[in-house]
Amino acid sequence: MIELSDRLNAMEESATIAMSRKSRELRAEGKDVISLSLGEPDFYTPEFIKDAAVKAMKDNFTTYTPVPGYDDLRLAISEKFKRDNDLNYGLDQIVVSTGAKQSLANVVMSIINNGDEVIIPAPFWVSYIEIVKVSEGTPVIVNAGIENDFKITPSQLEAAITPKTKMMMFSTPCNPTGSVYSKDELRALADVIKKYPNLVVVSDEIYEHINFTTKHASLAQFDDVYDQVVTVNGVSKAWAMTGWRLGYIGASVRIANACTKMQGQFTSGTCSITQKAAIAALKADPVVLEDMIGAFKSRRKLVLDALEGIKGVKTNVPEGAFYVFPDVSSFYGKEVNGAKIDSGSDLCMYLLEHANVALVTGEAFGDPNCIRISYAASEETLTEAMNRIKVALEKLS
Ligand code: PMP
Ligand code: GLU
Repeated sequence: MIELSDRLNAMEESATIAMSRKSRELRAEGKDVISLSLGEPDFYTPEFIKDAAVKAMKDNFTTYTPVPGYDDLRLAISEKFKRDNDLNYGLDQIVVSTGAKQSLANVVMSIINNGDEVIIPAPFWVSYIEIVKVSEGTPVIVNAGIENDFKITPSQLEAAITPKTKMMMFSTPCNPTGSVYSKDELRALADVIKKYPNLVVVSDEIYEHINFTTKHASLAQFDDVYDQVVTVNGVSKAWAMTGWRLGYIGASVRIANACTKMQGQFTSGTCSITQKAAIAALKADPVVLEDMIGAFKSRRKLVLDALEGIKGVKTNVPEGAFYVFPDVSSFYGKEVNGAKIDSGSDLCMYLLEHANVALVTGEAFGDPNCIRISYAASEETLTEAMNRIKVALEKLS
């Protein structure tokens, strides 16, 4: 048998992708599984974006592109950063990649050496840990509890910094908790960050438009940390373009050049047609997203109301993204038909088998007390799923 690399063997499969694969398989077997596992908008890509893609194809934008992306796309990104985030990034500071996932991998692979510490506030998005591990970095997890709305405090951040710390990675709005850092909270974190000028902070803002309360705030807006921050964003979530594969960073020229070099050996520039379509998305007024945001907001209410009706479930009120991350640890130790639930994984497996609802265990996001519910589904589907979950959880004793 062919030996696979230690690197690969040490890597966990993405739990979000594994769960969505499992629900697809069960559906193919004829099971009526509702999947609330994958964080993917259930809307179609808007027509004007698809039209731009068709035009790009007809205009023969079908060859290799510059590795960091077409100039006109990077200009549109530069303008978007200014318009939405009040951030100044020139074209030479912007690198477009095959999804924000690759943007994150480029940054970590370009900066992290064996043994460098990367602070990751938990709960975190699944792939952060594995990207750090494959880059031979050491993840340092800082737990932000539900009592602090799953956000870390400046003193927690400072306490985690050692001479080996090279990076911190976080998302706002956060996947999986939906927590949003306010401008004041980011300012307070920036006060710590600026004291460590060699610390790079990856601010993953891919859910920026899916924010129900405040205006999105970017960490890089503060001049005294601007050079230390890599702002990550993409078109997957806001523009329902998950399959098109386009993410991007704004960073210092040095980091941008490093990512371009890395990407030049792995994938080259992302799809030419996608790039042209993304220009249409990024130039559009974000006002057109209001209907979608409104739909997510009422779905959030539906899920939170349903969870409130289930005894033993505790949750924060997510202010953004499209996830709820309830604490379900009160069900651990309970049994049904002789099978004991000891963890979030057990509970998710139980809900998959007995309620036909696919969720993702909080273990994958660094909080074993929780499970993640993605509410990127219709209200009808969510109502049915939440009823099924309630019935199944009430059977546990
Ligand atoms: N960051 C976060 C927090 C995410 O939830 C996702 C979702 N896949 C990504 C990055 C990557 O997005 P994509 O690769 O589709 O641009
Ligand atoms: N980010 C999404 C999620 O968390 C998509 C899946 C993935 O890329 O891992 O479900």
